Amino acid sequence: MKIGFIGMGIMGKPMAKNLLKAGHEIVAFDLMKENLENVVQAGGRAAASSKSVAEECSTIITMLPNSPHVKSVVMGPNGVLEGAKVGTVLIDMSSIAPLASKEIAGACAEKGVKMIDAPVSGGEPKAIDGTLSIMVGGDKSVFESVKDILLVMGASAVYCGEVGAGNTTKLANQVIVACNIAATAEAFTLAKKAGVDPGLVFDAIKGGLAGSTVMNAKVPMMIVEDFKPGFKIDLHIKDLNNALETGHGVGAPLPLTAAVMEMLQTLHADGCGHKDHSALAEYYAKVSGTKISG
Ligand code: NAD
Repeated sequence: MKIGFIGMGIMGKPMAKNLLKAGHEIVAFDLMKENLENVVQAGGRAAASSKSVAEECSTIITMLPNSPHVKSVVMGPNGVLEGAKVGTVLIDMSSIAPLASKEIAGACAEKGVKMIDAPVSGGEPKAIDGTLSIMVGGDKSVFESVKDILLVMGASAVYCGEVGAGNTTKLANQVIVACNIAATAEAFTLAKKAGVDPGLVFDAIKGGLAGSTVMNAKVPMMIVEDFKPGFKIDLHIKDLNNALETGHGVGAPLPLTAAVMEMLQTLHADGCGHKDHSALAEYYAKVSGTKISG
């Protein structure tokens, strides 16, 4: 099938490449030439704009940083809705605010375009392996019609409810991941400061109740101080901002999320926004005077 793909960043690149490997044709667009070129070298074809992607393709995937980027790519000048035919399916796989998903889906519906929100969890390694967890909101029949495409990129694709429900699910995921990384950094800093080797702590507890996918992925990075993203601190700030706004809107206080948000803001102010979110260990290094690494 011919699939349009807009947003060739850390996640979009491997996701598009997996679709190519599965035999699909990819018509790609990204503002960053080097990201676009990377997918062209893997067999994709570059389009000149989001509008031209839509003129060519009746199934389009977007994988962009946040709500304003998706709004501009879909609803803005030279955007998807200027080129899309009636009946086009838009799968927005970016992590954005649930209310923005509803607004974009409304604008799509006015032009006869069907949109679902389908954000992902799993990060770059699972995007490369094609084993992402995908959470979907929107019309269930549209979800069923593109489920095979989603399962090229993911190990699971779960229908969560009306449009925006995918992103609400993703916000819950991001709250858990952020608090889990912060708790992990806090606990391993405690162990190091109290004189126990963090590597031994990891070996001792990873198989017990405290063990988690987050611990397995992030503690080895903290131990060697490798904070290459992965998932950037600035993107996690974006997600927690969306979570706090959504929580305030529906009357769900998020005190733990608010605390971790301030740690991430401290790191951002210190010039670490581009680092992996496992660099929450650096926040604890600053306040304790002790690094987990070394
Ligand atoms: P990224 O910053 O690496 O990539 C975003 C891409 O979008 C860039 O190539 C950028 O040039 C492009 N872009 C931005 N505005 C554009 C526009 N107007 N037109 C065309 N292209 C445009 O981000 P990423 O890490 O790939 O994340 C993408 C989304 O996936 C985000 O919503 C993020 O929260 C989510 N996500 C990321 C991870 C991860 O581990 N990186 C994991 C799960 C979900």
